[in-house]
Amino acid sequence: SSFNRLLIVSYRLPFTVQQTDDGTELRQNSGGLVSAVLSMAEQMGQRQGDSTAKIHWVGFGDASLQSADPATLENDAFVAHPVFIEEAVHNGFYYGFSNDLIWPLFHYFPSYASFKETDFQSYQQANTRFLETLTALIQPGDLVWIHDFQLMLLPDMVRQAIPSATIGYFFHIPFPTYEIVKLLPRTWRQALLKGILGADVVGFHTTDYVQHFLQSVSDVLELPIIGPRIVLPDRSVMVGDFPISVDFFKFNTSAQEADVVNTRQQYQQLLRQNKIIFSVDRLDYTKGIIYRLQGFEWFMAHHPDWQGRVTLVMTVVPSRDKIGQYQELKREIEETVGRINGRFGTIGWRPIIYSYSSLSFTELLALYTACDVALITPIRDGMNLVCKEFVASRHDHKGVLILSEFAGAAQELTDALIINPTDTQEVADAIQQGLEMPESEQQQRMIAMREHLQNNTVFRWSHNFLTAFADVSRYKPELE
Ligand code: UDP
Repeated sequence: SSFNRLLIVSYRLPFTVQQTDDGTELRQNSGGLVSAVLSMAEQMGQRQGDSTAKIHWVGFGDASLQSADPATLENDAFVAHPVFIEEAVHNGFYYGFSNDLIWPLFHYFPSYASFKETDFQSYQQANTRFLETLTALIQPGDLVWIHDFQLMLLPDMVRQAIPSATIGYFFHIPFPTYEIVKLLPRTWRQALLKGILGADVVGFHTTDYVQHFLQSVSDVLELPIIGPRIVLPDRSVMVGDFPISVDFFKFNTSAQEADVVNTRQQYQQLLRQNKIIFSVDRLDYTKGIIYRLQGFEWFMAHHPDWQGRVTLVMTVVPSRDKIGQYQELKREIEETVGRINGRFGTIGWRPIIYSYSSLSFTELLALYTACDVALITPIRDGMNLVCKEFVASRHDHKGVLILSEFAGAAQELTDALIINPTDTQEVADAIQQGLEMPESEQQQRMIAMREHLQNNTVFRWSHNFLTAFADVSRYKPELE
């Protein structure tokens, strides 16, 4: 199959609008999804012999976009289509249903989940707003690719409005076991699953998430499933695992550039050539930051010979800090860091260097390459890209990855030291093993992981997703 245009739909638009001398201008973010989509459009363009077709991207129109002249919402590669949603609806849809119910529930934090009928109504309304923008845009031959848990109802809404549309849907967070899905009120879980099944191809990061989804569809909607296909009366839905990845070559190359090398050397000098353990994540209860600190504390307490010789550099990137749970977590992290530093620190040495801020790309790469151990311990993570970026940056083949078994990435990076983050002693043991690992073993593990990532880049990910549409066989009425 081949498509004329690519229509991407995600909650967040990958642009910001910047003020310039003559008005406003669209500034593109450099996230992985953007580069994947660009390379996908290139693949499509090659087939069509037309690489000039722009990619259309539908996403929430925030305040910066509300005042922008629609004519400026376009650059060489993309046309942005903001969806404007009234504040009360957006609150219930985004802060409520998406971030306060689906996010905690699907990451196995049911006690954090808040179930509000009005939030579900807002979620339906907001998905309808996205539909309105989309239907005005879709033409025959388009591929519509909808992303993530904020837009679960949208695939079926598009299917009802335009039965012949070709629709892909990708889920970026874990899809949990049926026992968790069952906690949703019956009408909600039916609507959400039916919503996703509007797509022709549905993708998840891992085979576990695929199995969980198929089991829910089977139990809740009682639909027949044959292999990877869900059978509907007039068509079938292909479900598959497509583990997202990173631009391996970008990290590999950038890690060797002069400003990164200089910054890395500066960090190593500032830390007096101590061994460095590095972690970075958004502020989130799914990231296991407290367990990580407890593992580090146990390690310090039981290995006094390492006191004064190792530093944990821990960066927490501000996120969702208007929500109470996140403020509470921030307090708890800062209290724990303070306690550990107070317990082991000396005049000349602090065990943890903590910062609550975001890093520039140069700083991030300098830390990926400066550290001896990357300590990545989420309690649940759909994929986790930080660990893949760390591995892709290590052109020197040194450094040890300690990775939670509950990150999607653990299914692929089997040469990491895989740990259960809640097992404090196991985390502490892995820290010791990582710090004392012979270089030959570091190399052997790192090379194996790098080979995997070099062969499985984010470009391969979007290519595989695109290729899956070739297998879609279904009834396709003519578009009026
Ligand atoms: N990252 C960032 N700012 C920073 C540090 C990291 O934007 O200050 C990036 C990082 O490079 C990675 C992403 O944030 O690409 C985090 O992705 P991941 O899948 O690990 O976790 P998520 O935040 O999506 O849950």
